[in-house]
Amino acid sequence: MLKPIPTIDRDPTQEELNNIDKVEIMLAEESGSELPSHMHMARSLATDSWRSLKAFMRGKKVLVEPEEAIRRWEICEGCPFLKYDETNPDTGKRDGRCVHCGCFMNVKVHFKECSCPVDKW
Ligand code: SF4
Repeated sequence: MLKPIPTIDRDPTQEELNNIDKVEIMLAEESGSELPSHMHMARSLATDSWRSLKAFMRGKKVLVEPEEAIRRWEICEGCPFLKYDETNPDTGKRDGRCVHCGCFMNVKVHFKECSCPVDKW
């Protein structure tokens, strides 16, 4: 049986961080600014909603603390996968949508059971 070896936390070098940014910009340009298919977005929304409902039914918190939501949002704001070209029906504003999941991220960052589709938060 495979037993993964835990990795050790370390601080990345500036060069590694720069390389991550370069690759992410390249991936964002390659995938374009297209949102996922409606089927993909519907499934993502249904899955996230179910996770939050399940947490609520189990008596767990559904929302994160405001500080955590701000931390997540700041990561999204600096992410090349965030695009601003549609009006969010919840806020009436042109809010950022993630090209990976199609979600309006300034709403999604508040939900405890939600996560970044590429593990940035
Ligand atoms: S959820 Fe992740 S991939 Fe999407 S915009 Fe935010 S940080 Fe970027």
